[in-house]
Amino acid sequence: MLDLAYARHRMVDNQLARRGIKDENVLNAMRDVPREEFVEPGFEEFAYEDGPLPIGEGQTISQPYIVALMIEAAGIKPGDKVLDVGTGSGYAAAVMARIAGRVHTIERHAALGETARRRFEKLGFDNIELRIGDGTRGWPEAAPFDAVIVAAGGPGPPQMLMDQLDIGGRLVIPVGPETHSQRLLKITRTSGTKFEEEDLGGVMFVPLIGEQGWGEQRPASDGNPGTGHSALRRSPALSLPAMIAAAAELLPEIDNPAFAASLDRFADRRVVLLGEASHGTSEFYRARAAITRRLIEKHGFTIVAVEADWPDASVVDRYVRHRATRTEGQLPFQRFPTWMWRNTDVAAFTDWMHEHNRDLPADRRAAFYGLDIYNMRESIAAVLKYLDEVDPQAAVIARERYGCLTPWQREPSTYGRAVLTSGYSKCEQAVIEQCRELLKKRLEYALKDGEAFLDAAQNARLITSAERYYRIMYYGGAESWNLRDTHMFETLEHLLEAHGPASKAVVWAHNSHIGDARHTEMGSIRDELNIGQLCRERFGAEAALIGLGTHTGTVAAAHDWDSDMQIMQVRPSHDESYERLCHDADRPRFLLDFRRDEALRFRLLEPRLERFIGVIYRPDTERMSHYAHASLPQQFDAYVWFDETSAVTPLGPEHVRPGVPETYPFGL
Ligand code: SAM
Repeated sequence: MLDLAYARHRMVDNQLARRGIKDENVLNAMRDVPREEFVEPGFEEFAYEDGPLPIGEGQTISQPYIVALMIEAAGIKPGDKVLDVGTGSGYAAAVMARIAGRVHTIERHAALGETARRRFEKLGFDNIELRIGDGTRGWPEAAPFDAVIVAAGGPGPPQMLMDQLDIGGRLVIPVGPETHSQRLLKITRTSGTKFEEEDLGGVMFVPLIGEQGWGEQRPASDGNPGTGHSALRRSPALSLPAMIAAAAELLPEIDNPAFAASLDRFADRRVVLLGEASHGTSEFYRARAAITRRLIEKHGFTIVAVEADWPDASVVDRYVRHRATRTEGQLPFQRFPTWMWRNTDVAAFTDWMHEHNRDLPADRRAAFYGLDIYNMRESIAAVLKYLDEVDPQAAVIARERYGCLTPWQREPSTYGRAVLTSGYSKCEQAVIEQCRELLKKRLEYALKDGEAFLDAAQNARLITSAERYYRIMYYGGAESWNLRDTHMFETLEHLLEAHGPASKAVVWAHNSHIGDARHTEMGSIRDELNIGQLCRERFGAEAALIGLGTHTGTVAAAHDWDSDMQIMQVRPSHDESYERLCHDADRPRFLLDFRRDEALRFRLLEPRLERFIGVIYRPDTERMSHYAHASLPQQFDAYVWFDETSAVTPLGPEHVRPGVPETYPFGL
């Protein structure tokens, strides 16, 4: 039996409070109103999912977060008189009625309106008045309103609604030239004639149809959820692979410019996260490289942040940005799994970055960063080297502090056990103090060389994260995973901040880091979070999460940690997996944009198996070792499919190129 009350509280905690909804009135009202009463019969178990659901007439009940965001933005208080345009299921009106004094709500579809009216009666709401009609004209007899909320997207804010606001009243409405993608505006009436406008970000609503909205004849648009849902109604018998085949946007070969251009739809995002279903598949690297090249060349992205260790990636960054090469220290990417970054696809991409940057001024060059925390030893060396140069006295103290970790530098995984079982002293305080001190001198140090300071500061942060990581890793469990992904996310935030408010980043990491963890077993059972989830929580619609997947082929991987890389056959995907559905769609390469087909999205919502191959692949125990349940369309905004894929080619001596400097990241 589903515990819907529990699911409701989890929804409020995870989807609302964690994403920044603070208004206690809103949080309490949403803990109180049973959303399951507002969805169509049979859909109750999905009532607390993080998305809109179909309610008939091609319309949707809005995502809980959007309902909360709009009500919070409208600043609805006890005693307020509120107008709700677009009753839909009646859920938002019911939530507002728990807070406000009186709610007037208007719905243009009579059938939806009547169903909502019955729900209000059943649940005992006696402060809601409902009318069937065109809400763009407002409800003049009941005006003025303290707040007006419009749950459908129009070409602009209807004048009649603005006129019905009280002084100080707020109108919250999605507005935009497209019928499926709008900006959410908050308009506050500051006097009889003056209004102030605030942009709350990008949203996606069904169209507002009416006198002061879109015309009646206007099609519901190619991409809006309404259209998709009517498609679901029309063709309930269509098999899932057939629906996938119909929705699939076929992709040409990766090298064809049209391949990367198909992802242009995400180019206005602040962060584009590109996943992979294994760490050893050439198509995944080449696809991400092609998309990233285009985002850099045509759309102003300047940060490439990858699931690699910071100090190693920093060597590559020096190469791609034509910065002075390092003459000492460990060669980059020497640790297992070397093929993950020392492969021909990555080398080709970093060569491209090097060429692309050649004639650009330093501040427009695209940079290559690592988000991961494993190479603590090199990070320590980098901080010490930096301080030796800029502040030798501080370097002496730093050496002493980091000395605490010296015995564990080679095998940091033994540090946690030693601290816990043998009474060795923790180095926590020492590394935190060191990091704090370095950051305290930010102004002084950054003045000398901002780039070098960013590198050192990030290394110092990494050491504090890594110290803790290795200590808690001993216990296993979610905490060490969460620490690592939180560190990766915070590093990304630091990078965006360092590159300025207009900066945009592409992230490369495994699907398990990028697909929103809340919609996977990782999140729902093990309480793990990931960088994709944190990006959605922080950047909302400004982040695009894109997964990559395959059915079969070859992969570069090892059987065990630290053992040799092998080229292995990837078993055909499991019968009950998403991969099998995509394979059965019978198309070699395609893009599934879940936002463009609500019917398909809805049919795919229910969790299924999904395959995760990392640097280890164990075909013999594949089901247990590599499959987990997830809800693909909630994990990702879009999914790029390659039916058959091949292993990456690790760099070997044959790739050494004459004339390339010794410190070139790979040709060593
Ligand atoms: N807040 C609703 C809920 O909680 O279920 C979701 C509403 S749904 C996203 C938008 C609704 O606006 C649809 O039911 C649609 O029929 C309605 N709508 C669109 N244009 C309208 C108009 N001019 N007047 C009234 N309702 C309208």
